Amino acid sequence: MMSESLKIPHISTGDMLREALKNATELGRKAKAFMESGALVPDALVDAIVADRLERDDCRGGFILDGYPRTIPQAEFLRSILEKDGTKLLTIGVEAPDGELIRRLSSRWTCPKCGKMFNADLDPGKAGGRCDVCGTALVQRKDDMAEVIAERLQVYHKTTKPLIRYYQDHGSYVEVNGNRPAEEIFESIMGIVREKTMICA
Ligand code: AMP
Repeated sequence: MMSESLKIPHISTGDMLREALKNATELGRKAKAFMESGALVPDALVDAIVADRLERDDCRGGFILDGYPRTIPQAEFLRSILEKDGTKLLTIGVEAPDGELIRRLSSRWTCPKCGKMFNADLDPGKAGGRCDVCGTALVQRKDDMAEVIAERLQVYHKTTKPLIRYYQDHGSYVEVNGNRPAEEIFESIMGIVREKTMICA
């Protein structure tokens, strides 16, 4: 929704890694076991794909990073590349309790072709159903299984959560209540973007 509204690319490291896995590239081969167990893929691999992606022309007017950085060394790496051309970073943390995240992830169904996501809790007809955009049968992500969700949350609390302090110390962190419907979260984020950046939307 943000990408559409702001007309800047949505860059999700998870999506890029899943694409590499699907196409069985060298990167996909290296990342597979980490992703399937809920662990983080090594920093060097993720840093390289982000640096590469940010070089593309469509990032000149801004970009949305989703799921990156997830470790302090990744944040340091990002800082080093953004510093080169003075790109400013606004960091938005969408906070929700673990129980709510578990509920959302366990009821998430994804279209393997176009990537659109559905939630079986909000629309039970979607569980095991078809994508309403391209008609492909929906699947559940392997890492949305209960044991893997638990591992991902542990990794988040231990390794990624310290980034909140990191970005608070760098003066660019804003927290948003994520325990609300998507449209409301979107409106809050857009309000912050309008207030804190030069981007008009
Ligand atoms: P996501 O779609 O963002 O939930 O990411 C899915 C999986 O991809 C994660 O559980 C990690 O294994 C891997 N991944 C995505 N982004 C990163 C990152 N910034 N650093 C390390 N691993 C990542």
